[in-house]
Amino acid sequence: MARYIVTVTPPTPNGDLHLGHLSGPFLAADICRRSLMAKGHEVIMVCYSDDYQSYLPRKAEALNRSAADYGALMRRAIVLSSELAGVEFDHFPPARDNPWFRDSVEHYLDCVAEDVSAQVVSVHRCPNCRKWGHEAWGRGGCNSCGTSSDASQCEGCASKPIPALMTGMTCIACGTPMRMETQTAQVWALGRHFETVAAWHATRGMRDDLRDYLAANLAKTSDTWPITRPGDAGLPVARFGGDPVHTWFMGLSGYRAAVKEYLEDHPERGRFADWWSPQTNLVHFLGFDCSYSHAIAYAVQQVCDPSGPTIGRFVTNRFLMLDGDDFSTSRGNAVWIKDVTGLYPADAIRLFTALHAPETKAENFVMAEFKAWVQEVFRPLAAELTRAVEQGLPAQSTSRWTGTAAAIACADAARLDSFSMQCMARSVLRLLEEVRAAPAADRPAGYRLAIDLIAPILPTLSETLARTLTHEPA
Ligand SMILES: [Zn+2]
Ligand SMILES: [Zn+2]
Repeated sequence: MARYIVTVTPPTPNGDLHLGHLSGPFLAADICRRSLMAKGHEVIMVCYSDDYQSYLPRKAEALNRSAADYGALMRRAIVLSSELAGVEFDHFPPARDNPWFRDSVEHYLDCVAEDVSAQVVSVHRCPNCRKWGHEAWGRGGCNSCGTSSDASQCEGCASKPIPALMTGMTCIACGTPMRMETQTAQVWALGRHFETVAAWHATRGMRDDLRDYLAANLAKTSDTWPITRPGDAGLPVARFGGDPVHTWFMGLSGYRAAVKEYLEDHPERGRFADWWSPQTNLVHFLGFDCSYSHAIAYAVQQVCDPSGPTIGRFVTNRFLMLDGDDFSTSRGNAVWIKDVTGLYPADAIRLFTALHAPETKAENFVMAEFKAWVQEVFRPLAAELTRAVEQGLPAQSTSRWTGTAAAIACADAARLDSFSMQCMARSVLRLLEEVRAAPAADRPAGYRLAIDLIAPILPTLSETLARTLTHEPA
């Protein structure tokens, strides 16, 4: 038995949770959490609300609300939506006004202090409304891939753009072309640790696109990264004269703070020093566009902090499209979790989402296809599994079934080095096809295995079936 901390990249609390979030880190992390627990491991799964993200004040300004109040409200909405989809976090705290969060940010600032120095940097600024183009308020062409991007992190290629080389930077607030200005920022020379980080990553399984990304980016051992953004969102810190540390530096701090606060409230789960230690395995679920912060910057923070967990696994995802267009909170092009869980079983949403997860490439969600699938595939499947359980199942399966290619593929997809909820879902459905085609006497042991394998994806149905199996009253 081992300890695992599973993390989910924090959503910006500028809106509620939608299917794009679920198809990315949220559902995959929950399926991973349930798989690990089924194997007898101890798991803490955390996220937090990304209150210091600069897209939040932009949204709050548009709604004539305070960013703090709106962010707090949206955190509650996101936590509720997660629960509706069966995604169960142990802790999901706010970042804003959270002493645990600040403590962890100060901790990692201490860890990297000798690599940080004040430098003059070039940043876009609107000559009209004077907003800085660090992130939410400016948009232009990424100097690496050319797609439309802010100056912080490109959603197209996951690079951190070089502001001076970006094209057509325009102010989001007033539409005026931005100009370069200079300001003094704290700059982190993190590249000097890249060889150590690369050696760690070489021991871990990960998707090919992340492997390629890391090979290209960790070769830049003179890489630097400004960690304060004067005039923009972030956590103001005294050591930098009150300048805000931007949110991308603070993700690992958020996970650490969430674990620490959770264990303070749940001493029965163990001591923080025993959990946040080199013996614990970290598993991060993240959008591919967060690869720089997570698999590079936080990995360097970990190298500089021998008391914490070692560099863990990084499970990346690409984007889900909606009817061929991007999911977008700001444009309202989304399928909201509260809407869809009010109309369809959460298990159906989970299985369909897993089957069509955008793991290594973008996938497209079409509501009409989902509706038809629920009727034609999901409801008959749930009835079939219920019938099989009512007719009686053995306590364990047999090698007749555990040795099949489909069962082996499903077990392999649940391993952290090759984790794939899509492969788990597809192989268990393949196994069920084989069970249906088998002689009647062989089927109960096949259903037994299929039900065990599909349990992390269909938690509600699995709980009902488990009660039937043990004849517990509902
Ligand atoms: Zn402007
Ligand atoms: Zn790009």
